[in-house]
Amino acid sequence: MNVDYLIIGQGISGTLLSRSLLREGKKVVVVDDGKDAVASKIASGVVNPVTGKRLVRTWMIDQLLPFALDTYTTIGNELGVQLVQQCDILDFHLTQDGSAILNDKLAIEKEYLSVEQEDWSEYFRFNYGIGKIAPCLLIDIQTMLAEWRKKLAADNCLLEEKFDWNDFVQSKEQVICKSVIAQKVILCNGAGGIDDRYFSNLPWSKDKGEALIVSIPGLPRTNIYKQGISIVPWQDDLFWVGATHDWKFTDMQITPAFRKQVEEQLNYWLKLPYKIIDHIVAQRPANLERKPFVGLHPLHPAIGIFNGMGSKGCSMAPYFANMFARHLVHNESLQPDVDVKRFKNVLSR
Ligand SMILES: Cc1cc2nc3c(=O)[nH]c(=O)nc-3n(C[C@H](O)[C@H](O)[C@H](O)COP(=O)(O)OP(=O)(O)OC[C@H]3O[C@@H](n4cnc5c(N)ncnc54)[C@H](O)[C@@H]3O)c2cc1C
Repeated sequence: MNVDYLIIGQGISGTLLSRSLLREGKKVVVVDDGKDAVASKIASGVVNPVTGKRLVRTWMIDQLLPFALDTYTTIGNELGVQLVQQCDILDFHLTQDGSAILNDKLAIEKEYLSVEQEDWSEYFRFNYGIGKIAPCLLIDIQTMLAEWRKKLAADNCLLEEKFDWNDFVQSKEQVICKSVIAQKVILCNGAGGIDDRYFSNLPWSKDKGEALIVSIPGLPRTNIYKQGISIVPWQDDLFWVGATHDWKFTDMQITPAFRKQVEEQLNYWLKLPYKIIDHIVAQRPANLERKPFVGLHPLHPAIGIFNGMGSKGCSMAPYFANMFARHLVHNESLQPDVDVKRFKNVLSR
């Protein structure tokens, strides 16, 4: 089979890059091993313009958020499903300090921050008020991945198997992997990139995240609720509750300690009864700079990467997939601070 691009991985990154390249009229084949415990399949799907305890505006959010809204809306229309809804964050301050930080920030961050006026005391216990972060988007990533996979399969663009460099041969003009001949291979293999033959020298950081899937009958599905942990509307009338960032983990098992911590928090905060349905875990493809890795290898121009999305794949992948596709197809410039060539020295070792 002859194609323009062989794409490794069908998480958020591989899905959006393959779509951008197909829209540019290119032929692609996506190889994905179908693993369940990968970041894209357990992500809550939030596009959040202001993050952290200090309420800091997300990098490039003024460009990323409208681009994400447009991209997910259009993909949903193409696939006949609804993928995106506006779902704002209600930030229940845990301490007086949290409330003070919001008051300070309100003066300088008028675009995305306000004070929530509705009374939520029927549902939650809280003593220090509620901040509101809006607009936020909630993306149904699971449906997008499943529907896009069906489309790739129907169009003969999907290989459901594990990619292995031992099956791979490259020359200046083309790459060959088993029966596929392509101009370039692009790695969208998420946390698999950390140990990759060509890109392991990038400044990766390991970041394990756990979440619980919880039934909370009666809780309105109109908002994301946050108090240290977040409660996010999920599929099948359930809620996603999490998450952790563990940078020192030694295995990818779920931990009883996380479940206990969430139960204690919910028992204190939530007034409604709840039931834990599932406990999920995956590794984020994070990096020390918190900016994605986009572009072609400085020494191997037939090998590219679209990865390093960290905890913000839903916001960053639509914008940079489009930029990367335009770079590949029309030779348009990549933004220097995401171009993987910024790591030319370490990649040349
Ligand atoms: C608990 C948690 C919550 C999160 N919440 C959010 C959120 O609310 N908003 C947000 O923006 N981000 C969130 N994230 C981060 C987000 O999930 C990631 O940024 C994003 O999913 C990364 O997508 P990816 O496609 O680059 O990688 P991945 O999701 O890891 O996908 C890589 C794909 O490649 C496949 N693959 C890997 N190696 C091979 C191989 N050798 N052969 C074939 N296939 C292979 C894998 O099976 C997988 O399908 C969260 C992450 C976690 C863990």
